[in-house]
Amino acid sequence: MRPPPLLEIEGLTKHFPIRKGLIFSRTVGNVRAVDGVSFHLAAGETLALVGESGCGKSTTGRLALRLLEPTGGRIVFEGQDITQFGPQLMRPLRRRMQIVFQDPFASLHPRLTVGEILAEPLVLHGLASGKALAARVRDLLERVGLRGTHAARYPHEFSGGQRQRIGVARAISTNPALIVCDEPVSALDVSIQAQVVNLLQDLQAEFRLSYLFIAHDLAVVKHIADRIAVMYLGRLVEVADKTTLYQNPRHPYTQALLSAVPRPDPVKRQRAVLTGDVPSPAAPPPGCAFHPRCPFAAERCKLEAPALRQVAGREVACHRAEEIPEMPNLLSARIDDGARRRRLKILTRAAKDPTCAA
Ligand code: SF4
Repeated sequence: MRPPPLLEIEGLTKHFPIRKGLIFSRTVGNVRAVDGVSFHLAAGETLALVGESGCGKSTTGRLALRLLEPTGGRIVFEGQDITQFGPQLMRPLRRRMQIVFQDPFASLHPRLTVGEILAEPLVLHGLASGKALAARVRDLLERVGLRGTHAARYPHEFSGGQRQRIGVARAISTNPALIVCDEPVSALDVSIQAQVVNLLQDLQAEFRLSYLFIAHDLAVVKHIADRIAVMYLGRLVEVADKTTLYQNPRHPYTQALLSAVPRPDPVKRQRAVLTGDVPSPAAPPPGCAFHPRCPFAAERCKLEAPALRQVAGREVACHRAEEIPEMPNLLSARIDDGARRRRLKILTRAAKDPTCAA
């Protein structure tokens, strides 16, 4: 029997009212940022939530932590329905659910030393004081690859990667079970991204953390995620384990996202290019929200919104999922290796050929 999930989200919605009038007293519509999202997250698991900017993935992360009030749906954390919990009831749970923000500079108070920043949640939750507090701060810094002496410095004295390490140290300071990583590496250089992802993986193995990893970079997600949920205009369109999704994406939007991942290998490949803009979440298209951009759209797609259903070992929200042609294994190392080998052979042949100019 499957153990109960750490986090369970059912039919989560968040609609932001659009107000007009002199004192914004008139509600003229709603931005449907999150529109009936359901998923679960097991202990020690990483679920990546991916999609274009504005698709509602960060809002979903904040709703899961109850940093935003949901319009509807249900949030169950560690077996408790926390959807209606007020600040008092949420307070003891806060230390079990943390967040790492996208911008490591904006998320750290510029007038506090790193030691003070890391001590704050420990003091707030009554987890340490006095000498034990100072020792815990030093320990946290060392766990994320910094030095204990860095506690006396201010955030501006660190590089972007080091600041994100401080953000991670703050997130793990209260021994959480769940961390929402909201685009934690997208503001960092590529070389630093790998270091932070490796750090998150090491900490997950050590503390059995669960990550809701929000990202738009599918190459990063491939390294850290166990399962991937693809989001489009406030709804999930495909949820699958990593291997299934990368080897054979079934939703046309997932196919387009995956084929847009840049590859170092310049070998020609099939690409699924989307046309048109993302529709406004204030006026989403009827039926399948993806139909104005979908190359496989049929009449039914314009009328009826597809629900998530099981197709070929994953959940997909598409009426025509069984008919969508398969795409090649888009991020397969095997394909890359084959192409690399072919190119190497050509280069070697050219190098041996004395008539070939450099
Ligand atoms: Fe395309 Fe129709 Fe599937 Fe939507 S339901 S993704 S429009 S084929």
